[in-house]
Amino acid sequence: MPCLCDFHIHSTLSGDGRSDLLDQVRASREKGVKWLCFTEHIDYATSEGDYLVDFPLYQQKIAEARAAFPDMTIGIGLELGDTREERADVITQSDRIPLDFKLLSRHKVGGIDPYEAERFFAHRTRAQAVEDYLDAIWESLNAFPDYDALSHLGYVFKFVQSPEFPPLRYDDAPDRLDAILRFLIENGKALEVNTSRWRRFGDGMPGKDILARYRGLGGELLTLGSDAHDTVSAAQGFDAAIEQIRSLGFRHLTAFAGRQRRMLPL
Ligand SMILES: [Zn+2]
Ligand SMILES: [Zn+2]
Repeated sequence: MPCLCDFHIHSTLSGDGRSDLLDQVRASREKGVKWLCFTEHIDYATSEGDYLVDFPLYQQKIAEARAAFPDMTIGIGLELGDTREERADVITQSDRIPLDFKLLSRHKVGGIDPYEAERFFAHRTRAQAVEDYLDAIWESLNAFPDYDALSHLGYVFKFVQSPEFPPLRYDDAPDRLDAILRFLIENGKALEVNTSRWRRFGDGMPGKDILARYRGLGGELLTLGSDAHDTVSAAQGFDAAIEQIRSLGFRHLTAFAGRQRRMLPL
């Protein structure tokens, strides 16, 4: 059994989290997760307002969880929703407490989150959406000063239901995706395998073809993330994801403690 770790999970400390932090730990532990790192949202101007974190409460909850589950490793991190306009504020928030892990996240593209799918796709073809999204990721990767991993590459199609908008594929934009993957490799940043849509896509974000290309280019640093916002979603898709990652030739998952990288054998 590999050391199952989840480096993308939310609790009610996040604006859209639905389960208490200790309940999330308990649910993940029941699924075999041994190392859990919370990544509560910092995300300005979402459709539900600003998502900010009550840091003293966050630290208190993490301390309680560590005391209650001494057989687990429990980290404290943030999912940093970056945009050019909000970057300075996001950085300020990300520096307020010592963290184990900083997860760079790009939700909004041109001021709109693809979560608002009707609005986002009203004036975009699929091809235009791919270009706009990957250009936004490229901008964030280069401009955000301090992070450990890139979250959910392919998020742009997470919320669309139409068969005309299948998940992001390598062939959609080989040049842009190569640039992104090479940037991560050359700069020692990890790539997340996000399993939050595994049930629907039968694949992670990014999908298998993009992960295969990352491996082919020499990529080795993968974090695994359920992106669970409630206990029902704890460790969702992990068994299938681990199988896929192994089949592509990866030998480790990447974990972070105190911002230091640890390689966990698969
Ligand atoms: Zn996200
Ligand atoms: Zn998330």
